[in-house]
Amino acid sequence: MQVTSVNLETVCGITSKIPDNKMLEVAFAGRSNVGKSSLINALMNRKSYARTSQQPGKTQTINFYNINEQLYFVDLPGYGYAKVSPEMVKKWGKMIDGYLENSKVLRLVFLLVDIRHKPNKNDKQMYDWCINYGFNPIIIATKEDKVKRSQKANLIKEIKNALGVIEGTPVIPFSAVSKSGRDDIWEYIDMVYEA
Ligand code: GDP
Repeated sequence: MQVTSVNLETVCGITSKIPDNKMLEVAFAGRSNVGKSSLINALMNRKSYARTSQQPGKTQTINFYNINEQLYFVDLPGYGYAKVSPEMVKKWGKMIDGYLENSKVLRLVFLLVDIRHKPNKNDKQMYDWCINYGFNPIIIATKEDKVKRSQKANLIKEIKNALGVIEGTPVIPFSAVSKSGRDDIWEYIDMVYEA
């Protein structure tokens, strides 16, 4: 798909109802700072449309980007800030849970993890949540430019093990710097769009 238009159509806070969208949705989840905004911008061919580097404690929202009037990218709030209060964590959980449970048009979830770091319990929880709601997330291993080529296969194996992924789950290395992996990710999106 060639991206010709992008529009941040809906921003949902904790109290907002998720939109009753008619076009299909592709969601992006991951820890804060994992490179989610950079990935979304790269997929949209925009430099800084999706917000980058949220500050701890800043309002957590679910952002719906209308892509070409064809589908939505759903930017889920980043998790795992050390300084966030338990109350915030609870709110965050409710929001993601509510979205996964209630969206009628969500077709694909990408779960982002930093290729350099072993997924932690929050990542595992996010993965398991998706599975519980019937989604089989595709993993994106971000910031691949930061590791040596020779390390990659092992790091990917570690990520798969730590998340306990279902056999056959793709792990796509991605770099927002070189844009490597971008076409592979788009192939998965095109596949669900064309299905
Ligand atoms: P978010 O909080 O998940 O939305 O993460 P951001 O996209 O704001 O990225 C967090 C930080 O990581 C920023 O300083 C980015 O420049 C950096 N970053 C994101 N993706 C990459 C990447 O692929 N390679 C490198 N080297 N840095 C990246």
